[in-house]
Amino acid sequence: MERRTFLISSLTGLSLLALSGCVPPKPTPTGPPSPTATPAPSLVPQPAGMLRSSWSEDPFARGSYSFATVSSTPQQREDLAEPVLDRLFFAGEAVSADAPGTVQGARDAGQRAARLLQSAAESGERVAVIGAGAAGLAAARQLTDAGFSVVVIEARDRLGGRIDTVTDDAWPVPVELGPSFIVGADTSSLDEELTGLEISHAPFPLTPEARTAAGAVTEVSTVGADSVTAALTWAAAQAQDTSLAKALVATGSATLSQTDGDAGISDADWLDYQLATSTTLESGAPADEMSGWYTPTPQASAAADVRIVLGGYSALLKEDATDLDVIYSSVVTRVAYTDASVSLRLGTGESLTVDRAIVTVPLGVLQRDVIEFDPALPFAHRGAIAALGMGTVDKIWLRFDEPFWDTEAALWTTVGDDTLAFRVWVNMMPLTNEPVLVGFVSGDQALKLAKSGNTEFTDAALRSLEPFAALPTDSATPSPAV
Ligand SMILES: Cc1cc2nc3c(=O)[nH]c(=O)nc-3n(C[C@H](O)[C@H](O)[C@H](O)COP(=O)(O)OP(=O)(O)OC[C@H]3O[C@@H](n4cnc5c(N)ncnc54)[C@H](O)[C@@H]3O)c2cc1C
Repeated sequence: MERRTFLISSLTGLSLLALSGCVPPKPTPTGPPSPTATPAPSLVPQPAGMLRSSWSEDPFARGSYSFATVSSTPQQREDLAEPVLDRLFFAGEAVSADAPGTVQGARDAGQRAARLLQSAAESGERVAVIGAGAAGLAAARQLTDAGFSVVVIEARDRLGGRIDTVTDDAWPVPVELGPSFIVGADTSSLDEELTGLEISHAPFPLTPEARTAAGAVTEVSTVGADSVTAALTWAAAQAQDTSLAKALVATGSATLSQTDGDAGISDADWLDYQLATSTTLESGAPADEMSGWYTPTPQASAAADVRIVLGGYSALLKEDATDLDVIYSSVVTRVAYTDASVSLRLGTGESLTVDRAIVTVPLGVLQRDVIEFDPALPFAHRGAIAALGMGTVDKIWLRFDEPFWDTEAALWTTVGDDTLAFRVWVNMMPLTNEPVLVGFVSGDQALKLAKSGNTEFTDAALRSLEPFAALPTDSATPSPAV
């Protein structure tokens, strides 16, 4: 292991390495990195194209998806979903109790808010939906079909919110900067909807090929997953919630061996692997912020049935959006409500008054007080907004002229070098026959990298790919992928 940043001797030390860099963010690029970029010191060639996300820096998202912090409870998602005076309704992934952080959860929450509004209102009333993401469009569709007069107000100049599909002639496949997967496909209606809309999607194998920094394929040890499970089990028995980081320390992970075992990987490396490639990726949060009570166990996550969307996630929303009245590029800055109506002020200076409104802006936006509510939201709503967390996961899409890698695996992970920022990769080659790779960075590392420029972001990704370039001649003979 090159550098140990897993400081388990400290209660708050469960942090993954964050690459330094404070270059102001640039808009999403469409071409290869600048010719003045420092060449990646590796066998990994420069890509022919790059696209990236910076969700934590996005003023209309302020993070990737919500997660359970130490101070939050699942009930707070329900609290946030409670109508206020039967005039204001809330939807979005963060208010979904069943599937937070997912497209399915957002759509379900939108439909639920629409049902609640319908039961309080008379058909024909004028309704504003704030936000044209999965939740807002689902709500607007349902209310429009039920005879309401609906206007959708969206801050961006496009539909979809965190569903951000880029279709560009330079790219052989649709590029998903937000969601790519149907999570919990066995319990989701999304795969059926996508099939009905002829949007291509396929089963995605969750069994990764894991490589050491030297490029040797290695069998994934259960030590990391077992440690996290033991910590969550211990936390569940405590009188008060505690962070996953503290639970790991309490259950002995601080004493996991740092002595290199097979392929130079120690037990502590396998715990770092579990956190970096799975637990942190799922929540977008570092272990010292994750709830010990409400973080899913590795077993629950591994059992999920997952499909990957290949034909463009945003096509899902087109049907919802058909014939809707959407006002684009309009930021809602104030929501004033009484028991008779709702008045909205827009950043453009305009205002409008409607009978009722559904607020679907992300939790991260609500936390920043971008929207002034008058009167202030009820205590339970404010408590939920403050307590729930907003995690960060970012993606980089790299297009190569030809594959430089030697594996057919669709899911790649790395172990034993926590200086690599992008520890999880999706290889689109076996899925689309195109030499395109998708890298994931999460938690603290994602927060730091989100502020960096494209060159630094790309360099961090290319360095993370070194284990997948042609194997050095003196490396261990690879064992079969697991
Ligand atoms: C990198 C990443 C990967 C993900 N991967 C997956 C995955 O594989 N599978 C999965 O199911 N889910 C995934 N998700 C989560 C999924 O994308 C979200 O749960 C879902 O899209 C959220 O929908 P929403 O309608 O709640 O919010 P959003 O889509 O964020 O919609 C809210 C809308 O409100 C608008 N808005 C914000 N502020 C204002 C304002 N002041 N005035 C007017 N409009 C405003 C925003 O522009 C946005 O359009 C991922 C998310 C990210 C970021």
